[in-house]
Amino acid sequence: MKKISILIVVLIAVFLLVGCQTSNQQNKGWQEWDSLTPSQRTTAEEITNVIGPCPCNQCSLTLTDCTCDHPQGALEIKTAIAEDIKSGKSKDDILEGLKEKYKLGDLEEAPELDISK
Ligand SMILES: [Zn+2]
Repeated sequence: MKKISILIVVLIAVFLLVGCQTSNQQNKGWQEWDSLTPSQRTTAEEITNVIGPCPCNQCSLTLTDCTCDHPQGALEIKTAIAEDIKSGKSKDDILEGLKEKYKLGDLEEAPELDISK
């Protein structure tokens, strides 16, 4: 039985190592976001929920769901949010900073989709 548990531990270790390398190569930029604690992640998702649609203007997803790496897209903004949260900024400060930097307009009202386009 001992051998089996050692084997399982080794397999998990190999799996984790391979998984880390793959995600580092494919999603190098997601380290900041992925390293948030669960409570920091909750705060971060509250912020992305307020922002609403992904600001890259190329996706039809909400920022919370989007994982694009477009300019001003999910990767860029979520990384900025993660960095701000880790540096101890408040939710309001982070939103203010993002509004200014990405010209997100008034986030108090949920933006409506322009269906006339
Ligand atoms: Zn996007």
